[in-house]
Amino acid sequence: MQQADIDRLRQIPVPAQAHWIAGRPVTGQTEPLAVISPIDGSELTTIADGSAGEVEIAVAAARTWFEVGSWSRAAPADRKKCLLRLADLIEQHALELAVLGVRNNGTEINMAYKAEPLSAAQTFRYYAEAIDKVYGEIAPTPPGVLGLVHHEPLGVVGVIVPWNFPLMIGAWKVAPALAAGNSVVVKPSEFASLSLLKLAELAAAAGLPDGALNVVTGTGRVVGEALALHMDVDCIAFTGSGGVGRRLMEASARSNLKRVHLELGGKSPNIVFADAPDLDRAASVAASGIFRNSGQVCVAGSRLLVEASIYDRFMDRLTTATAKLRVGDPLDLKSDVGAVCGEDQLAKNLRFVDGAIRDGARLVTGGRQIMQDTGGYYMAPTIFDEVTPGMQLAQEEVFGPVLAVTRFRDEDEAIRLANATDYGLAAAVWTSNLSRAHRMIRAVRAGVVHVNTYGGTDITVPLGGFKQSGFGRDKSLHALDKYSDLKTAWIQL
Ligand code: NAD
Repeated sequence: MQQADIDRLRQIPVPAQAHWIAGRPVTGQTEPLAVISPIDGSELTTIADGSAGEVEIAVAAARTWFEVGSWSRAAPADRKKCLLRLADLIEQHALELAVLGVRNNGTEINMAYKAEPLSAAQTFRYYAEAIDKVYGEIAPTPPGVLGLVHHEPLGVVGVIVPWNFPLMIGAWKVAPALAAGNSVVVKPSEFASLSLLKLAELAAAAGLPDGALNVVTGTGRVVGEALALHMDVDCIAFTGSGGVGRRLMEASARSNLKRVHLELGGKSPNIVFADAPDLDRAASVAASGIFRNSGQVCVAGSRLLVEASIYDRFMDRLTTATAKLRVGDPLDLKSDVGAVCGEDQLAKNLRFVDGAIRDGARLVTGGRQIMQDTGGYYMAPTIFDEVTPGMQLAQEEVFGPVLAVTRFRDEDEAIRLANATDYGLAAAVWTSNLSRAHRMIRAVRAGVVHVNTYGGTDITVPLGGFKQSGFGRDKSLHALDKYSDLKTAWIQL
């Protein structure tokens, strides 16, 4: 990745965007939505502001093509070939996709390049390679009958995703859903739709049949709700906030009892024991684990729990590591941290800062907007310590660059604090004691517990939450189960 290529790509005007339905762009029927780049607050382009009618057209296209069977009943090996071509195309367009995505949501390019197109390509390749290795079953029935268990696609899958990593998270759902033979209608976030629209175009170029992948842009209130309430959508795969997750379950109950998979927020504890193998590394990983992408990461280590005996030493290292992080233009390869996704998100972050001060937490660093002269939305990495479990900052997800630090005396207290929120998405434990590491893995209620690292994952392992961080798992072979049904054939011989 060269700076000169990024600088060239960032200059390319982005034309007004249409929906993508049945293999072609479909112009929206109403006034479009402006897309504001968080880099400098300028209008980047517009997206179609979808209506319930346009959702209707997309779902009908998805259903029609599902029934036609050119994708749903294609041999798994043929689906594999097509999805592998798509993975190659994503890789060939990786920088273009990454720059487009960064102009849209402000993630620093040196994170976005790997986390978005390259990870999406890997995801499509993984499920492409997996799908022709899935077998049905022969049941251990008595003699005289034969029980067969088939895997069948569900039909039409609605995918609703947030703005922080649209391509990566979109691929985690679209790839296994398509591999399993479903048709898909994607509703991207209105704050980050561009790279998913481009993905649909690449899928058509890869030979995906028309109607197998559709993208309807617009607001959650209109497009998202219409998809969630639709009687002909068989499943909603969602990543986003808990509030919207609840609405989706209600919509399912009020419509056709479609299955709903929810990947929601987190307030993840990063727990540093005095016997951590390398305090310098633990401190720098703790800083990047909350501040990369301006904290707009579902698994961000937003609560740091530090053993009392090393507290002061560790805080020194943490503030030093934080001061080294360079917040800047997200399309500059030298920036460690880019922009906050939008004006509202920044205002929300700053309200959390005010609330933490009111609650009596101590502001160690940051706590303010920076780089106002750019016209964009940037926030200084922010650390509060003396955060107690009852404070808002210890309980609610900020989804911004704000770290809450609390000290603990022993392992039991660390476990109590770690589990003292409604969330259970991710956690980390830093210790040289193998037995303690395993005790903590079992005791902390979270979908992933890192040991002596934070973050760092790949497609081979499941991701998802305990408690109110949701249910269902993205990634790994387990995700295929979300997008297929089991059908029994009972044959009298
Ligand atoms: P959000 O819940 O506001 O929006 C997510 C998506 O839902 C968007 O496409 C939005 O338009 C749509 N939506 C909004 N209202 C809707 C409605 N009434 N019906 C249907 N759809 C609706 O979340 P966000 O602000 O885009 O993203 C941030 C949230 O996502 C955070 O809570 C974060 O933790 C979570 N997240 C979770 C994971 C994970 O894997 N668990 C990953 C990334 C982000």
